[in-house]
Amino acid sequence: MTLNIKIPGRMHTIAAHRENSGLVAAVFPIHYPRALFRAHGILPVEVWGPPIADKTLGDSHLQAYTCSIARLGLSYLMGGGLDVADMFVVPHCCDTLQGLGSLIRDFIPRDKPCFTLYLPREKRDADIAFFAEELSTVAAELQGMSNKAPTHEALIEAIETEARATAAADQLMKRRLYLPCTNRAFYELVRSREYLPAEQFTSLANQALAAVEDREKQGLKIVLSGVVPEPMDLLDVLEDMGAVVVADDFLSTGRRLYPPPGRHADPLTRMAESVVNGPPDATRGCSFDDRLAHLLGLVQESGAAGVIFYHAKFCEPEQFYLPALKKGLEAAGIPSYRVEQDIGDALPGQMVTRLEAFLEMLS
Ligand code: SF4
Repeated sequence: MTLNIKIPGRMHTIAAHRENSGLVAAVFPIHYPRALFRAHGILPVEVWGPPIADKTLGDSHLQAYTCSIARLGLSYLMGGGLDVADMFVVPHCCDTLQGLGSLIRDFIPRDKPCFTLYLPREKRDADIAFFAEELSTVAAELQGMSNKAPTHEALIEAIETEARATAAADQLMKRRLYLPCTNRAFYELVRSREYLPAEQFTSLANQALAAVEDREKQGLKIVLSGVVPEPMDLLDVLEDMGAVVVADDFLSTGRRLYPPPGRHADPLTRMAESVVNGPPDATRGCSFDDRLAHLLGLVQESGAAGVIFYHAKFCEPEQFYLPALKKGLEAAGIPSYRVEQDIGDALPGQMVTRLEAFLEMLS
């Protein structure tokens, strides 16, 4: 099963952007205003780990109970993997990232700034106003880097271009069962949004959507929830067991399908509204009920037989919600199973066996 779509690699994309004298920002998870970077001609390239980093480099600077997203991110930086970046961005989405935002300043060159931004925990007008204010601080910092002061029109255009890319990602998610591709190929495409410019991603997504078939893929339908599907071998393992991922509630993908921006006159407020009104997310302190309702909705709409919580080891926000989510799913008659993984490690055989047993129980 293949889509026959050539996805440009991360380094190739960065090099192409640099050829046009563009700046590059290394952005740590999770929520940030892509459109703002775009309006300044800065390419945001996200850092989810990555699993290939030599984690021993960062380990000596972090507590042993720090999640692998932070440990590998710091290790990758210390190993020179982020030398290509002109600046760093660490949204304060959880305590770990907040600590990392302070720590990495000790390891980056003095002429490369590290920006942080706080995310509000609610969806009130006051939260939107607060986040718009945060974005205004980031905008001033980006202006210092890019020497550009985007006009109102340029900001609106950037917002609309990014919104089209998010809408394309949303369509991919909704039509995934009809796409002729494996679980892994699907995520390679969707996750290229982590580094591709919005137009490029939209174009690739539309190519894929043009290949949608009439018949849905066969297999045991499951929903995945967690941080990020790394190592991506997980997707191959599920494929080999006959499972089809039909929806996700990952921080890296499903929980960043922001709603279309509103019509507010102030572009920064529009950006803030979009992020603040995004899907329920543990790192933004949403209610248990909202998260459960969202998960139940994913299961019901996709016809999934069960949910796998694929957690990054030591991820406190995800762990905190787990008991309530499992209980709520159980009450609704939906089986779920949780596994925990250090994203830099190979999948342990024991975990694969346990997943297999869970899927057998579902079928
Ligand atoms: S894995 Fe969890 S604890 Fe680690 S950075 Fe992501 S949200 Fe924070």
